[in-house]
Amino acid sequence: MKIALVGIGKIAVDQHVPAISGSADWELAATVSRHGTVDGVEAFADMAEMLEARSDIRVVSLCLPPVPRFEYAMQALKAGRQVMLEKPPGATIAECHALEAAARDAGLSIYATWHSRHADMVAAAKAWLADKELLSLTVTWKEDVRRWHPGQAWIWEPGGLGVFDPGINALSIVTEILPDDIHVTKAELDIPTNCQTPIGAHIAFHHPKGAQVSAVFDWRQEGDQTWEIEAVTEVGTLKLSDGGAVMEVDGMRTGDAAPLGGEYPRLYDRMAQLVRKGEIDMDLRPMTLATDALALGRRNPTDPFFD
Ligand code: NAP
Repeated sequence: MKIALVGIGKIAVDQHVPAISGSADWELAATVSRHGTVDGVEAFADMAEMLEARSDIRVVSLCLPPVPRFEYAMQALKAGRQVMLEKPPGATIAECHALEAAARDAGLSIYATWHSRHADMVAAAKAWLADKELLSLTVTWKEDVRRWHPGQAWIWEPGGLGVFDPGINALSIVTEILPDDIHVTKAELDIPTNCQTPIGAHIAFHHPKGAQVSAVFDWRQEGDQTWEIEAVTEVGTLKLSDGGAVMEVDGMRTGDAAPLGGEYPRLYDRMAQLVRKGEIDMDLRPMTLATDALALGRRNPTDPFFD
């Protein structure tokens, strides 16, 4: 199937282009980006022009930041294209509902991707936790913003999510592996005085069966990066590390993939499946947790951030 990639920036180049080239399902037939291009692929600077000129391309994958994404997605749906959305699927929950409704009305597929859910050991962690009594779950997601978002001003602007941009990856794993839904009860947000979004966050969650669930997100970590989820149950402790690529149960380790390894090829496999079956996959639970933490969070001003 021919696909167009929209927003040729860091994640498009690092992950989407290689995943599409390595897939038997997809052919990268066009790009839409104001500055970026991909060698050997027809490039458009304007979405409407691409949709008009390339009626042979029926699927569009959007790799833009969350705020501009809605307009592009709606334009694609109105032009009868199936749509794949980078995470988070939009800037607000309401606009994601609007996109889903538009896709449903038009009989088109739409996919809110959560790449971290496709990390190597997430399915195994979900299976292990399925029949255990959870006592506590702790998320530690600490990385260096300068390394993963070099020069990206949008992450500090309203709707950019700040440290919830990576933190939502952890929330996408937690909502996938826990058999019960959780919700946010309290949050503390460290916000640089020159930014609109947090650089650090502590979050507490309600668990329906009384487990202690919490998360710490921090974008100020230099050196080794930490993407860990530890779940203590009545019969043992499960630890997911490297963003879900590695799992340990009571210290016994399985999995040796690199962080992000295999995630994007699996997203494109899933999109191919959705398009073939004419289905929709829009799980907004990670986004609900992130936006609720931002709504409830106490704002603590902290040192200004300079890239
Ligand atoms: P990025 O490089 O800053 O942006 C992607 C591209 O979107 C830009 O190159 C730009 O292309 C276009 N764009 C930016 N602002 C725009 C605007 N206001 N209107 C229209 N187009 C705009 O960002 P990214 O790191 O690739 O992240 C994009 C999405 O991928 C985010 O939702 C992020 O959460 C997700 N993601 C990122 C990473 C990562 O490690 N960075 C990992 C996984 C997922 P043109 O200027 O050429 O139009």
